[in-house]
Amino acid sequence: MRKKNDLHCAFCGRQQDDVGMLISGQNVHICNSCVDGAKEIIDQELNGKFNAFDLPADVRPVDIKSFLDQYVVGQDDAKKVLSVGVYNHYKRLKQPVGKDDVEIEKSNILLVGRTGTGKTLLAKTIARLLKVPFAIVDATVLTEAGYVGEDVESMLSRLLQNCDYNVSAAECGIVYVDEIDKIARKSDNPSITRDVSGEGVQQALLKLLEGTEVNVPPQGGRKHPDQKLIKVNTSNILFIAGGAFDGIERHIARRLNTQVIGFRNDDDEVYDSENLLQYISQQDVKSFGLIPELIGRMPILTYLEPLDRATLHSILIQPKNALIKQYKKLFKMEGVDLEFTDDALDFIVDIAMETKLGARGLRTICEAIMTDAMFEVPSKKNTKHYLISKEYAESKLNRTKLTQLKAAS
Ligand code: ADP
Repeated sequence: MRKKNDLHCAFCGRQQDDVGMLISGQNVHICNSCVDGAKEIIDQELNGKFNAFDLPADVRPVDIKSFLDQYVVGQDDAKKVLSVGVYNHYKRLKQPVGKDDVEIEKSNILLVGRTGTGKTLLAKTIARLLKVPFAIVDATVLTEAGYVGEDVESMLSRLLQNCDYNVSAAECGIVYVDEIDKIARKSDNPSITRDVSGEGVQQALLKLLEGTEVNVPPQGGRKHPDQKLIKVNTSNILFIAGGAFDGIERHIARRLNTQVIGFRNDDDEVYDSENLLQYISQQDVKSFGLIPELIGRMPILTYLEPLDRATLHSILIQPKNALIKQYKKLFKMEGVDLEFTDDALDFIVDIAMETKLGARGLRTICEAIMTDAMFEVPSKKNTKHYLISKEYAESKLNRTKLTQLKAAS
């Protein structure tokens, strides 16, 4: 009989006593570290090492914009700025290292616009075009170390999870940071007592946005001492931050007024006071309460317009996966042609405007109208057509449902 310590790993040759664990096969053994090493090789081979050169070739800003046009209605200014920003970001990733001494700097993006105007959708659509990992994180759950909440590094946990922990893929990904305005400093006066909820998180975000190596807790949340952390380099991760910045128009107006008075010359500009957001500048974001260092790390700033009736109407029917197209497809699968009258669509838009739910509400409203039809149609063998008229829509959106919708707004 062989002595216990004769057993050794057939890969690294170490004896049983020198390894954590030996796993036995037929007359051979392998140690736990060699299993880990082998697993890493398999992961890399099977998942493929991802690098920037795998990104779609020849995607020019106009191509990015026309791809966005398929999914997002309107928002032309934001689309243009984003297309250029994203194009340059990935061009930067592809630049040969050390060719000359001009280094293209990283350009994260800040989107300002009311909730439900398409900020998340824009970021998500870009990731879809480039086929890079994408994650949405909420800035309000982040807190600086020592407080209840999540570490800023947990933003990357979600990105890793979304690409099965393929680190090199995650390192070329896009992170959408929602509600960035909610971590604004409460006062523009930097000398005020430090406000932990906001400024601390902004400080913690700086390095991450700029590009650094961070240790990420694989499951997110708070890091704790015994946890195995995953090293991720954020230099090539594109951060797109978005927020509603409620009331920022006041800051814009104030700045524009001072400017006009300040430069009282012959060519005073006329500003469109209905849509002040189009004049937004870094300075306004600063007076709203983001610290200059953080703004500096998001040098590309653009805005989204509020959605008017016509845009809401187009959102219902026009994009590649517009809501109405989705319902039609569902019914088609039952062999039924579904149709909406024009005034039924107008009615849906009216309710969305009335309840101030915007585009986000279109789905809720449509679901309330369509539930009964979707319940009945699969059991009705002889139905070949289904018409949603305004009267039908009205009858389904009764007072109780409307009150619920309004309460949700
Ligand atoms: P935000 O991030 O600005 O709060 P989202 O991008 O999450 O808003 O949009 C909310 C919903 O409304 C999504 O279902 C999205 O599909 C739809 N939506 C919003 N704006 C647009 C738009 N401009 N074009 C098409 N759909 C839109």
